[in-house]
Amino acid sequence: MRVVVYPGSFDPVTYGHVDVIRRARRITEKLIVAVAKSPAKETAFSAEERLDMVREATRGLDGVEVNLFDGLLVEYARQVGAEGIIRGLRALSDFEYEFQMALTNRKLYEPIETIFLMTSESYSYLSSSLIKEIARLGADISSFVPPAACRKMKERFGK
Ligand code: ADP
Repeated sequence: MRVVVYPGSFDPVTYGHVDVIRRARRITEKLIVAVAKSPAKETAFSAEERLDMVREATRGLDGVEVNLFDGLLVEYARQVGAEGIIRGLRALSDFEYEFQMALTNRKLYEPIETIFLMTSESYSYLSSSLIKEIARLGADISSFVPPAACRKMKERFGK
């Protein structure tokens, strides 16, 4: 593929996300990581902070661009000329929601294909919300999130 979009809230970006980004690069010339400006769930970090963390975590990866997007994902994907949407799959629990969303997006804009990538098993248990929860309790999260996110988390939650 030429252009593919990887959308998410990235609140904060984790090594699980970075793993999906690395894998996605193999199937496209250009990967646009699209950070949702105002996702449905409340975020701990502002859109700009989330964007900066993803930018820093992907610095040096050729063919990866990181942008903010607002509104309908398929509309954004259409505007940037994307042929695919990447989503990461962890456990079975991700499947139902992802399945619903992929089919809804197809109804909204048929030409775009949703592609699911499986993370490496060493990251399959990672989620941004769990990381925030343990960071609040003072856990060391440096093996779960890239350095930029680790720094921001320390500023926000202490330790
Ligand atoms: P969203 O709010 O859109 O789910 P997230 O930042 O939580 O945003 O996740 C973005 C995408 O990355 C989703 O497809 C999610 O399943 C995937 N993802 C998140 N964490 C991991 C992980 N550890 N391994 C693989 N995929 C992941």
